[in-house]
Amino acid sequence: MDVYGLLGNPVGHSLSPPMHEAGYEKLDIDARYVTFEPPVEKGAEAVESAAMLGVSGLNVTIPFKQDVLDAVEPDDIAARIGAVNTIDFSTDPPTGYNTDAAGLVRAFEHHGVSLEGQAVLVGAGGAGRAAAFALADEGMTVGIANRTVEKGVDLAADVTESAVDGTASGHALDTLSELLADADVLVNATSVGMEEDRSPVPEDALHGDLAVLDAVYSPIETRLLREAAAAGATTVDGAWMLLYQGVEAFERWTGEDAPVDAMNEALRAHLE
Ligand code: NAP
Repeated sequence: MDVYGLLGNPVGHSLSPPMHEAGYEKLDIDARYVTFEPPVEKGAEAVESAAMLGVSGLNVTIPFKQDVLDAVEPDDIAARIGAVNTIDFSTDPPTGYNTDAAGLVRAFEHHGVSLEGQAVLVGAGGAGRAAAFALADEGMTVGIANRTVEKGVDLAADVTESAVDGTASGHALDTLSELLADADVLVNATSVGMEEDRSPVPEDALHGDLAVLDAVYSPIETRLLREAAAAGATTVDGAWMLLYQGVEAFERWTGEDAPVDAMNEALRAHLE
């Protein structure tokens, strides 16, 4: 039996175990997905221990996404983002991936959105970094608006220096209306809207030519998505990004096409 798991602290309410185990069941793969909660300063050691114990793969969440870089060989985009959320132990050293980036792209693809033109990204934390590199690698021009402006400006400089194709610039939140006027894509990667009825974006800045993804998945229908839908925009909820980061990890670990529908059903059953 193969053992996969999630490394985090805390990991109590993770949705990854039911999502991945639905995939194993559908494809008749003899595997289990469990959670590991080591002390916060022991992320890299936990990865070394997992390798020794024969764990096949790990997802990594807060607060370990940066710390585990010391214990893996990151692929190109994980190294540029500076964070790893998926580890494959079939290589020596283990390989580190950031499937949040690919998850975001595949979530848009699932909704028929082509990532071309101008993107506006709100937020420059962990999810924001992954989103910024993902959108720029697709060739988009990315305007990053963040509460702490400097953080967005620094992220934009990192992205512009190393993106495969696109460029980025950093802005204050109060320029969002201006940024959004000609934008094709909007991503919320702040925690605004999580367990609260607030949006980080002025309602009157939303319009029908936008595709809007909210990384927040609790609630599934955030105020931003509700207002975006009312403005005629295409909307993509945060569970799609969560699903596809898991699908990417599943496919890297097992070498099989993930049973996306079964994993999606299991995930949403635990969200709704
Ligand atoms: P993080 O690293 O802590 O970053 C938080 C971001 O939110 C920062 O940009 C922060 O701005 C901004 N922010 C927080 N409170 C704010 C406020 N009151 N007004 C304006 N901006 C505010 O968190 P994270 O890991 O990136 O996660 C962000 C969200 O994405 C969470 O809701 C998380 O659940 C979600 N997420 C979803 C997925 C998915 O697969 N769907 C994956 C990862 C994360 P400052 O820089 O100024 O502090």
